[in-house]
Amino acid sequence: MKNYIKVDEWKIIEEGFDPHVNKISESIFSIGNGRMGQRANFEEKYTGETLQGNYIAGVYYPDKTRVGWWKNGYPEYFAKVLNAANWIGIDIRIGDETLDLNTCKVKEFTRVLHMKEGYLERSFVAGISGGREVKVHSRRFCSIVDDETGAICYSVTPLNFSDVVTITPFIDGDVKNADSNYDEKFWDEVHQETGDKSALLVMRTRKTGFDVCTGMIFSVDSADGQGDYATQPFSRNKYVAHKVEVNGVQGKEITVCKYVANLSSENYPVEILRDECQKTLRRIAAKGFDKMLVEQAAAWALKWQESDIVIEGDAAAQQGIRFNIFQLNQTYTGEDARLNIGPKGFTGEKYGGSTYWDTEAYCVPFYLATAPPEVTRNLLIYRYKHLGKAIENAAKLGFTNGAALYPMVTMNGEECHNEWEITFEEIHRNGAIAYAIFNYIRYTGDKEYLTDYGLEVLVGIARFWRQRVNWSSDRNQYVMLGVTGPNEYENNVNNNWYTSTIACWCMEYAIEAMGYVRESNAEKYRSLVSKLHLNEHEETSAWKHIIDNMYFPESKELGVFLQQDGYLDKEQTLVKDLNEAERPLNQKWSWDRILRSVFIKQADVLQGIYFFEERYDEATIRRNFDFYEPRTVHESSLSPCVHAILAAKLGDEQRAYEFYLRTSRLDLDDYNNDTEDGLHITSMAGTWMSVVEGFAGMRVRNDTLHFNPFLPAKWSSFSFNILFRGAILNVRIEREYVTLSNQSERPLTVCVFDKPYEVNGGGEVRAEYKPVAGNV
Ligand code: BGC
Repeated sequence: MKNYIKVDEWKIIEEGFDPHVNKISESIFSIGNGRMGQRANFEEKYTGETLQGNYIAGVYYPDKTRVGWWKNGYPEYFAKVLNAANWIGIDIRIGDETLDLNTCKVKEFTRVLHMKEGYLERSFVAGISGGREVKVHSRRFCSIVDDETGAICYSVTPLNFSDVVTITPFIDGDVKNADSNYDEKFWDEVHQETGDKSALLVMRTRKTGFDVCTGMIFSVDSADGQGDYATQPFSRNKYVAHKVEVNGVQGKEITVCKYVANLSSENYPVEILRDECQKTLRRIAAKGFDKMLVEQAAAWALKWQESDIVIEGDAAAQQGIRFNIFQLNQTYTGEDARLNIGPKGFTGEKYGGSTYWDTEAYCVPFYLATAPPEVTRNLLIYRYKHLGKAIENAAKLGFTNGAALYPMVTMNGEECHNEWEITFEEIHRNGAIAYAIFNYIRYTGDKEYLTDYGLEVLVGIARFWRQRVNWSSDRNQYVMLGVTGPNEYENNVNNNWYTSTIACWCMEYAIEAMGYVRESNAEKYRSLVSKLHLNEHEETSAWKHIIDNMYFPESKELGVFLQQDGYLDKEQTLVKDLNEAERPLNQKWSWDRILRSVFIKQADVLQGIYFFEERYDEATIRRNFDFYEPRTVHESSLSPCVHAILAAKLGDEQRAYEFYLRTSRLDLDDYNNDTEDGLHITSMAGTWMSVVEGFAGMRVRNDTLHFNPFLPAKWSSFSFNILFRGAILNVRIEREYVTLSNQSERPLTVCVFDKPYEVNGGGEVRAEYKPVAGNV
């Protein structure tokens, strides 16, 4: 765990330059706007340890798979969001010395992420040869107003000398992915040009053929009043730049403003890509950096209005939660149903920027409550559009009749993962995709989604489960063999309780959805019956038979569901008995030892209890929690949040708070020693869930919002905004009251500790604060 980030409620601050944490900071201080994202690499040359990263949403490369033993059904490639042309570059030379923080003496270094206004700032004083000192100050952002653009304002001041300062703003398309399987480069140059204080580079991805046009316009100003500078354009393969020589005068600031646009052929026909890029550049350059920044801050103010959580009395917790919300909003904006949320967002290469079940299981609740319904709907539509591919994917594995198996990891609907125990066996992901449809409708009330899109997906998924179980004549029940549950520290197990539970639930929900569409829109239903070749009676009877006769492992004696067959045969040691030096197990133990052990990577049975909590009484939840949590090592960042929510439900405030802390500052404090690879974006949504579903106990039941909050001892209050069915509700929890203020016109009924309150449009209601454990 590191502890170098200064605590501030609205800012992330690093003071002093430590090259050893530079890659971690590059992740933490990342900026993005849902369309593109940029690690906090330096504008000027840096020869020290760095992971360069600029990513354009949806632009990927199918990197040829590398596996030791090929298994039928493995995908040919792993899709990777690409490190695209470096657009931030501004090289600086003082006399004939290149400014490079790896070779000069660095003083007064600060890096600040301004979360309120949405920009990154950096400043330092560099000591170069001959005792000369130069001061640098830079600000940059990816615009959320004009989401294909970014802007940089970079200034250099010679502090104790005068000399020529050469400034080279450039675009460099000769970039690589650090995780390239065969050390290949993925981009070819298509076109380049330089113009008056401008340049443009079009790069094309190999194999996938995406064109990305990256253009810049820049200006240079100096306080010496010299005005216009001659610029010398120059270029080489995959690189365009301008050199500007300025007579640097002691104490006089030289400022470069660089306006950049990244346009992709995903969004424009290639023939007009360059023109559109030029137009975009002219538009933003005419606006200027300051105006763009003012607009950026105003747009962020709106985002914060919808999604902020305010914690009083604990600045570290406040900073933690805001950081999570900020990064989530930088990653996905919901405007484009072709895009999704990679576990690292745009902050690193790990996980390839692809889509995992994380989106449905963890991110959906955040976007449901903090953004208009269309945002989550687009996440669902993304999977709807991939249904054909999910059916093909299942067919490759031998399933028939329109059975759909969604991929574990995907960019365009095709499976990218190639470890048999996950690709073929971690099939519970299908369940999360169905659950997200249910969750969306429960929250928004938009049942029509079933008619328009949802039912088709649910039928494909139900058909898969039907074929994935088999009848055991020994047990006289259905079983599900050879699966991997969410706990990836067990592979190829039989009857994983969670997977069997969600499988049956999917079939139940498909039957319910079918009934709804049949009753509400007979014509559409008939057309779906024909499109899906649906044999309602035969198929639903088979599903019901499975639901009624499924085998679920449990221990009657312990009163718990069993994670899988044979779980109790394992040596029953607990995490508290592990030596700290052995952790994390996935780095310290052999894989076979992990598989044979009792230890659990992340919520598995408890994930099912979290999803379907209304089915279980408090005593059952408690027994399972008390049994599984002590065996859980939480080596997935997705784990603590589910535990925080269940602990809160059980009234265990202290443990809920401990789990929350673990998730909220996971990246800021680099708990898992892996932040340098990128941020844990999808688990950030889990942090939000820990506060809103955990501490505030928010649930939607029968179309009504319920809260059963508790206030962590260290906090004097917390409050947040929720968008619910056209209303904006602010919920504030203090020691004595829970205050509900309706910031919209729309009246709302809200239950606090099970008591209903009418909150009129613009109105405010106070409920007494009296926590009741186990009553969520
Ligand atoms: C977790 C998975 C998750 C993936 C991406 C893995 O470590 O076990 O549940 O989908 O990371 O976040």
